[in-house]
Amino acid sequence: MTFEEYYSAFKAYSDIHSEEYRKRIENLEPLLMKFMKEKGKVLDLGCGAGGFSFLLEDLGFTVIGADNSDYMLSLARGFAKEKGSKVEFIKADARELPFEDSTFDYVLFIDNLVHFEPLDLGKAFREIARILKPGGRLLLQFTDLRALLPVLMNGQVIGAEYWISKVMPDREEKTVLIEFQSEEKSFRVRFNVWGKTAVELLAKLYFKKVGEEQINEHTYLQVYEPK
Ligand code: SAM
Repeated sequence: MTFEEYYSAFKAYSDIHSEEYRKRIENLEPLLMKFMKEKGKVLDLGCGAGGFSFLLEDLGFTVIGADNSDYMLSLARGFAKEKGSKVEFIKADARELPFEDSTFDYVLFIDNLVHFEPLDLGKAFREIARILKPGGRLLLQFTDLRALLPVLMNGQVIGAEYWISKVMPDREEKTVLIEFQSEEKSFRVRFNVWGKTAVELLAKLYFKKVGEEQINEHTYLQVYEPK
């Protein structure tokens, strides 16, 4: 199962018109705005279907969306066409970004950590710090999967259509293979397990933390500026 198939099964990531996607935007918008008072140039990194790019464009920011998945970019470009959006969606890898130093006032990095192994997240953070202007901000939203793992392993069910049928961490709990099940099918996806402490320690190499909001029991928005 590829990540693309996983995302296409979950409207919260693939359909910006779905209730699930709109809820994510509704929850995060006031928190983002708390830390994005000045308008400016934004990179929505790992933009997926582009919902947060469109939100910020509508609010008066100049936005570029970047993702390394052709499938997710095709969704974003389709929604852009439908909306008459001017957001430019480009293919780029967070570990090596095709932008000059000090280009952006803000970088959004929302719900992406599960894709990144430790070395890769280090590279992505270094790139984000490089392309941010001095005083620019990284808005990092992530779920503390390390804290959530025992809850998932306890057999908690999530989602209306799909539920979690198996949770299989590797021996060191650096990654976890999660099996999702619906009435029709089941599939498995491997996630990198990031805990809040590990994220903060890594971020500390490149950034200083200037803000934090807890979105729900295990999900955070953290705000960083380059050192
Ligand atoms: N930020 C979007 C949102 O909140 O709707 C999408 C989140 S989705 C859970 C994670 C996204 O990160 C996917 O679109 C995936 O293709 C992208 N991604 C994963 N690894 C990446 C990388 N190395 N560089 C750029 N994008 C990446």
